[in-house]
Amino acid sequence: MPAMTSTRSMSTPTRPAIAGLPAYALADQDVPGVERIIRLGQNELGVAPSPLAVEAAARATGSLNRYPDPEHGRLRWSIAAVHGLRPERIACGAGSMELMGLLATAYCEPGVDVVVSRYGYKYFELQCAIAGATLRVAPEPRRQIDVDAILDTVTPRTRLVYVANPNNPTGTCLEAGGLTRLRGRLPERVMLVVDAAYAELAAGPDYETGFDLVESGHNVVVLRTFSKAYGLAGLRVGWTYAPGEVIGAIGRIRPPNGITAAGLEAAEAALGDRPHLDRTVEEVVRLREAFRRHVRGLGLEADPSHANFVLVRFPKGGPSDAGNTFERLKRAGIIVRPVGGYGLADCLRVTIGSADEMAALSSALEPIVGGYRDGSP
Ligand code: PLP
Repeated sequence: MPAMTSTRSMSTPTRPAIAGLPAYALADQDVPGVERIIRLGQNELGVAPSPLAVEAAARATGSLNRYPDPEHGRLRWSIAAVHGLRPERIACGAGSMELMGLLATAYCEPGVDVVVSRYGYKYFELQCAIAGATLRVAPEPRRQIDVDAILDTVTPRTRLVYVANPNNPTGTCLEAGGLTRLRGRLPERVMLVVDAAYAELAAGPDYETGFDLVESGHNVVVLRTFSKAYGLAGLRVGWTYAPGEVIGAIGRIRPPNGITAAGLEAAEAALGDRPHLDRTVEEVVRLREAFRRHVRGLGLEADPSHANFVLVRFPKGGPSDAGNTFERLKRAGIIVRPVGGYGLADCLRVTIGSADEMAALSSALEPIVGGYRDGSP
């Protein structure tokens, strides 16, 4: 038998749509040599999730030999009851990221356009590109999704329009009535995907969930998650509210047991702990606004945010530009998120952590930025 050589190149070609793709970039997790790390790079909740959710997840460990409920029945009913929705129009997934992948698989293919906004969340774009669709990017003046720009970018080949509301990494929301206006002016054949991962943090009189648009029969798909305000990112539970055909398509292609039993139990318990959610949102908003005031006091710009993070703009060039500030914070054990990949190289996205973490960040930022202001970095 001829010896196997390791020098021969592999001959199975990777699909062209995938071969040229850059890997999806996540925030750093560790800093070599630094023991106590403050992780403010992934928009995780900085305060503890509901103790009821933690207990429910622990209880689920009593039956680890069993597959979880593939229909997610109890969770769907609970979501429906809390939000006043129809359970048959809800599908759950292993995080909203899984649902994004499934939507892309079901609706994207070569020859199809997907319209996204200039600073829109990248993961959905990646999934559409993997499925072979062409991305068309609408300009975004002032880091705010512009409904008219999106409408102008739609072509006869457009099958999906994606908006994150609030958006990541900008933290901004569509203007009041913007979602309804967008749906009203889009051709009905175009599916409007509304990623509302941070909805609980944005809730207010002007915030449109999009549920009523789905309810009234429009071609709208809303994505929600337990990863942000509910603080269950580690358990991977997301859901969508969508027209029946979309729920059917997702059901046909979804791996049956993506959400763990612990995830299902914890999400249901978290939903039932409304007082904890209210306290969480209040605390995150309080810390977020305090941090915004702090950075603005340091002479930096920070757009209003409707989520659990703030996009901070740094002076271009010099020792306290975004890149240098990122590195200096990292050396101090604080990881925030550079967003050059979004075309925002002069910004850093800062997740709102616990009160202690935000205090540590604020003191670490002061000498970096303050030194620059005085001209003595
Ligand atoms: N959508 C947006 C806009 C996000 O920012 C994120 C995570 O950062 C997600 C979705 C991912 O959520 P999940 O944890 O449910 O997959």
